[in-house]
Amino acid sequence: MTFALTGIGVSRGVVAGKAHIQEANRLEIAELEISAAGIDAEVARFNSALKKARQQLKTIRDRIPATTPADIAAFIDTHLLMLEDAALAYVPVDIIRRRHCNAEWALKMQRDELAAVFDEMDDPYLRTRIDDVDHVVNRILGMLLQQQTGRSHDTETEDVDLDGFVIVADDLTPADTILMRHQGIAAFVTEHGGVNSHTAILARSLGIPAIVGVHHVRRYIRQNELIVVDSETGVVLADPDKQMLQQIRVRQDRERHERDQLVRLKKQPTVTRDGHEVSLQANIETPEDTGAIAEVSADGVGLYRTEMLFMNRNDWPDEEEQFHAYLKVVQALNGAPVTIRTLDLGADKQVDGGRAAGAIATNPALGLRAIRLCLKDPTLLFPQLCAILRVSAYGPVRIMLPMLTNLHELSQALQLIHEARQLLRKRGQDFDTALPVGGMIEVPAAALASGLFAEHLDFLSIGTNDLIQYTLAVDRLADDVSHLYEPLHPAVLRLIHMTVAAAASKGIPVSMCGEMAGDANYIPVLLGLGLRELSMHPSLVLEAKGIICNSNTASLSEVVHKILNSNCQSEISGLIETLSNRG
Ligand code: PEP
Ligand code: MG
Repeated sequence: MTFALTGIGVSRGVVAGKAHIQEANRLEIAELEISAAGIDAEVARFNSALKKARQQLKTIRDRIPATTPADIAAFIDTHLLMLEDAALAYVPVDIIRRRHCNAEWALKMQRDELAAVFDEMDDPYLRTRIDDVDHVVNRILGMLLQQQTGRSHDTETEDVDLDGFVIVADDLTPADTILMRHQGIAAFVTEHGGVNSHTAILARSLGIPAIVGVHHVRRYIRQNELIVVDSETGVVLADPDKQMLQQIRVRQDRERHERDQLVRLKKQPTVTRDGHEVSLQANIETPEDTGAIAEVSADGVGLYRTEMLFMNRNDWPDEEEQFHAYLKVVQALNGAPVTIRTLDLGADKQVDGGRAAGAIATNPALGLRAIRLCLKDPTLLFPQLCAILRVSAYGPVRIMLPMLTNLHELSQALQLIHEARQLLRKRGQDFDTALPVGGMIEVPAAALASGLFAEHLDFLSIGTNDLIQYTLAVDRLADDVSHLYEPLHPAVLRLIHMTVAAAASKGIPVSMCGEMAGDANYIPVLLGLGLRELSMHPSLVLEAKGIICNSNTASLSEVVHKILNSNCQSEISGLIETLSNRG
């Protein structure tokens, strides 16, 4: 029977695929007594699940494209080794035989035993490795549960043309999402997560349809069940009938056609109807993303998030490794500017190493993240600054500092940049002596004091994902308050306006690189607020260009100024409605 579950659609597109339920260990696992006669069969069931888990992981590893960073393949190899290890391969078998219990319970007991050992470790990094054990245990449990229910829906989907697997999970980390890109995952659905979590941002930039906040979805959807994920409406349809699947194919064709139409805009300049040029840049996470930039002819990279290089690995990349990664981007951009953001670890961008102290803070978004963490531990920031400066010898590069809150942080960061320059001079290495240094305005304090920051910086870039979170006190990761996450809130619009005005008065450029910049619904407001540089994930560039080329900034700014001066919420809502009709 078809039924629908709803959540928050955070990406685009609709797909039909087989559900792959993750994190099975959070399901209730009961201890069952196995009779003496059934022990061998139970051991065989465990061994078969183990074998299937190994095969599944090997298939994933074999399908990884050659371009995949070595650390991701190494991450999968580590899990394969763990599947061979006696602790997971043999000890559960002993437990089954000794306790006469079911395989799931034996595995759970061994997992808890290992967790206790990890918990005792002094090294905070090693303590976090229990996550790897959990990944592997979940994989085996998934196989066991499939055997137990025997409810593979393969037969029902045999004659259906599927788009691939849909991951159904409790929540996903950005690191999990990156791995998905290499596993050909068609979509994902999670029980938790907010629209502007880093995981959601990644889903959008990878073009993976995704829905978050579908509470208890894993209770209702079964392993391998055919489901439809409509990330536009946030609806998950279980067990769709043939007619529904046909409608999906029609919609996919239409969306493909619309995308093809947009390609025509690729060579066209981005100029409004009243003659204002707008620069459309790209947000990227890895050097591989530069391919997508060329496809849409973006004007450069407005935000290179460098955190990915630090994820899914056990060590930190040194200056040399960072230099080579950044160099790939600069060379691929072939003379177009690249804005490299220094590390923004912590809060929604955790790394496995646990060195990011924000991981254990009670309130990580307000804790030791981004520039705060880097200034506390300059061994993290300094090699990165050297690497960025060195690539500036190969093309136009800008440094961007995240989450500035006070001027003291800025002067400390500028001092480190100065020292990095001195070191490169001493080493005889080239760099751009006029390399621009900019700051992200993503904390209300920084927006309110943007005039002061602008005096010491070469450019500003507004990070609305965090600016909205901090202004409205709405956790960007939480689905239960996501209805309060309102980019058009008058307070947010006023802070953006203030920042644009501060940059103009100091004669420096200002751009926006938060998700708001690439959202078709908000582009008219941003043009009206005076923004002329927007950075977004490459898949949105052509649509944004279409909107901008049909806009008249004079008319938009007239409405926006009325919005900024209004104290009446219903008047503001009415004015915002009129914006999309104003070209
Ligand atoms: C932002 O906060 O708007 C931003 C671009 O940074 P991130 O999403 O990486 O925190
Ligand atoms: Mg941010």
